[in-house]
Amino acid sequence: MSQSRQQLGKAERELIEAAKDAIRSRYRDEWQEVGAALRTRSGKIFTGVNLDAYLGRMAVCAEAVALGRAVVEAGDTGIDTIVAVRHPPPGDKDRAINVVSPCGACRELIFDYDPKARVIVPNGKVTAVVPITELLPNKYSREAEG
Ligand SMILES: [Zn+2]
Repeated sequence: MSQSRQQLGKAERELIEAAKDAIRSRYRDEWQEVGAALRTRSGKIFTGVNLDAYLGRMAVCAEAVALGRAVVEAGDTGIDTIVAVRHPPPGDKDRAINVVSPCGACRELIFDYDPKARVIVPNGKVTAVVPITELLPNKYSREAEG
């Protein structure tokens, strides 16, 4: 575990609960299974759920929906911290709603909007907060480097 990883504080636990509440209230099997919550630089919390689609490439991640709400509703584009959680399938009572890592595309999106964003990720049996830069080394760039 690198030095940049931090344990969760009250603010991070509050964000995880917001993401869990979002997917708990909007869960639909195979359509809405992931919830996300982000805290903007101005301190507001926005939540989202994923939009799955029959045409897979039209699917939208929960993180993107949360960011879209922050942009539209508050004009906030800075991300202090973001987290996603996955709801287990119906009937799977052994699994809880757990924190999941953002997909590769979301890592790009988070970095684009706030290169200093922090992301809450599963880290073995605990949960940790890591800088987005740690999750996205050698980020894609249109510019040639060097
Ligand atoms: Zn994603």
